[in-house]
Amino acid sequence: MQVNLKIINNLKATKLALVILFILCTIFTAPAYADTELDNDYYSNSKTATDTSILSQDKLPDTIISDDTSNGLNIPNYTIKTFDSSVGADVTKNNEISKFIPRTPLSNQIFKLQKKGSTILKFGNGKGKKLLILAGIHGNEVESNIATMKYLEFLKNRKFEGTIYVIPFTIPKSTSLNSRNCKFKYQYIEIIKIKQRYRKSYKVRSRIWKREKYKSQGRWKYGWKGYWTYKIRYKNTYRIITKNIFKNGYKFGDPNRYANIIGTPGWKVVEFAKKNGIRYIIDVHSGGGIEKYNNGVVFATPGWSEESKWARHIKLKTGSFVTSGKKHPGMVNVYGNKLGINTLTLEVERDQGSSLQWANIQYKMIKAACNYLFPSLR
Ligand SMILES: [Zn+2]
Repeated sequence: MQVNLKIINNLKATKLALVILFILCTIFTAPAYADTELDNDYYSNSKTATDTSILSQDKLPDTIISDDTSNGLNIPNYTIKTFDSSVGADVTKNNEISKFIPRTPLSNQIFKLQKKGSTILKFGNGKGKKLLILAGIHGNEVESNIATMKYLEFLKNRKFEGTIYVIPFTIPKSTSLNSRNCKFKYQYIEIIKIKQRYRKSYKVRSRIWKREKYKSQGRWKYGWKGYWTYKIRYKNTYRIITKNIFKNGYKFGDPNRYANIIGTPGWKVVEFAKKNGIRYIIDVHSGGGIEKYNNGVVFATPGWSEESKWARHIKLKTGSFVTSGKKHPGMVNVYGNKLGINTLTLEVERDQGSSLQWANIQYKMIKAACNYLFPSLR
């Protein structure tokens, strides 16, 4: 009987050793797999994306690289810089972008820069409240880009107390293809699948192993219900089985459902806002089936008093409809809220009527939203 037990225990130990070997293989082969993914042609020109990303800096540099002098003072009122170099493309390949955005020194400069990545512009005197406007996280919602570009033309000659950051094309790659979804790089935590199967029993063992130990050949052994091992091996096994591992991957999907995942375009925008102490975000969209809302729709989160006040101000100025809308943890407005940022989503109709007309309505909404934070911008 004693011998039989021993054999069983040995068998169990062998089984466990195989499981551990399997897990170790999974861990050590995973990064290699991710590295080969980086050589994918689609991303071959964006390998340095994370290195050159503006996220690696806490603040925009003070150097002004704009040569726009249309304010007549020969003093540019803004700074402009590449924000996310992994999403660059020629946005003028999108017919409506090309057709409806007037060519000005500023728009030409922005179009040119999109090829290197998304662009961020910074306006204002750097004091007071801070706002970030992003448009086109969905690349097939050109009204949002047209409206935002129009607002930039308004803003470029203004002096005001406060700071406004604008990303007029969040994913130029998507806009150039007029596509809602896009392929993007992201980092995720993978929990080893075996964990679910074994976690419960290991937790039980972990809790009571101190009570069930015995001395064997001068060493203490720990375990539970017939499974015995040395303390260090027991602890290591437990640690490996519950380990989370980081992986790099690519995903083709809706970027406004992945803003809570590290490395995605939406995540970079919200994290930038957080890092720079920005307390307000406007996420500009257009969508189908909302043509009955002649003055657009503002999505605000119920229970957020500042957001509701902000939305009411826009309604007062433009007659927009205010609602709460659907929530998904990967949406920019939901993730923004999670990081403590007031985040409004502005929508107008996308599929019916004239894009330019809807863009003009959205322009008024953006203007009203900015007027709430910066009263001198009227
Ligand atoms: Zn959208």
